[in-house]
Amino acid sequence: FDIRDHQLTTREKEFENALRPLSFSDFNGQDKVVENLTIFVKAARLRAEALDHVLLHGPPGLGKTTLSNIIANELEVGFKVTSGPVLDKPGDLAGVLTSLEPNDVLFIDEIHRLSPVVEEYLYSAMEDYRIDIMIDKGPSARSIQLELNPFTLVGATTRSGLLTAPLRARFGINLHLEYYDDDVLTTIIKRSAAILDVPCDDQAAAEIASRSRGTPRICNALLRRVRDFAQVKGDGSIDIKIAQYALEALNIDKYGLDEIDNKILCTVIDKFDGGPVGLTTIATALGEDPGTIEEVYEPFLIKEGFIKRTPRGREVTPLAYKHLGREFQSKQQS
Ligand code: ADP
Repeated sequence: FDIRDHQLTTREKEFENALRPLSFSDFNGQDKVVENLTIFVKAARLRAEALDHVLLHGPPGLGKTTLSNIIANELEVGFKVTSGPVLDKPGDLAGVLTSLEPNDVLFIDEIHRLSPVVEEYLYSAMEDYRIDIMIDKGPSARSIQLELNPFTLVGATTRSGLLTAPLRARFGINLHLEYYDDDVLTTIIKRSAAILDVPCDDQAAAEIASRSRGTPRICNALLRRVRDFAQVKGDGSIDIKIAQYALEALNIDKYGLDEIDNKILCTVIDKFDGGPVGLTTIATALGEDPGTIEEVYEPFLIKEGFIKRTPRGREVTPLAYKHLGREFQSKQQS
């Protein structure tokens, strides 16, 4: 049961879409980001211009897709969605770009996965609303210039470290999404429960929130599973008892840590005596990419106080030992 899995099934996607907030006022948390975006959107509307290109970065499930959809709604313009891996050839990009109406929002998810060739084409599109497309091959090859309608590109990435400097420089607005606090997640759960028409009391919502790894996608997925238990084992409404029962049955960690989180902590404890140990060394031991650990997994472990960054590398804290049921031995400073 890995709810952080990127590969959502169609039914899960439908479920997510049903719960997606559609306006800034409906979007909970990320106050600073929302405050800024609200101003930029208003200003663009006053000038009747396309909003500057927006880069949203942060771990999966924190609301990047949701926000880009809200931006289009608040601008009252059209919204098109694609992703880095889908835009395989320059022709694919040209097709999407030429279909945009004036001031539309184009959302490119996983923008760090654009191929270098496609990325090149995107530069002039972003800068001058224009692309040069090569037609034909060999001696008859020639390039034609296509004028585009002004548009806003919203790029989303979990791995902003992989973005090239020229691409990054073309985004006027650059925003980072943070993990959510439990009280905001509690509000999100209550909102989702209301949409799903499932009674859910405050205590139960707070319990689900505390195990959601700071992530709205996870809290909604857990709510969905807990609802099943409430309907089958109870009277359909969610209280603390049924929530605890369900979360226990689903084997959800008390802090919402998942398999990879626990593997990272165990590796540092078992193989490196709790650290300090360098990021690359941890990554090699886990067979993971250091950038993914640094940008996707580690921020939550640091936020919750399981890992500390020290000048000599990553160190696991006593809390992590306690959580994993290991004995913590304090070390002499060498
Ligand atoms: P990302 O694009 O960052 O991976 P999504 O925007 O797809 O994340 O969000 C995942 C799910 O979480 C969606 O169902 C969305 O409705 C919900 N969600 C995300 N952020 C919020 C929020 N601030 N308030 C309410 N629901 C949210």
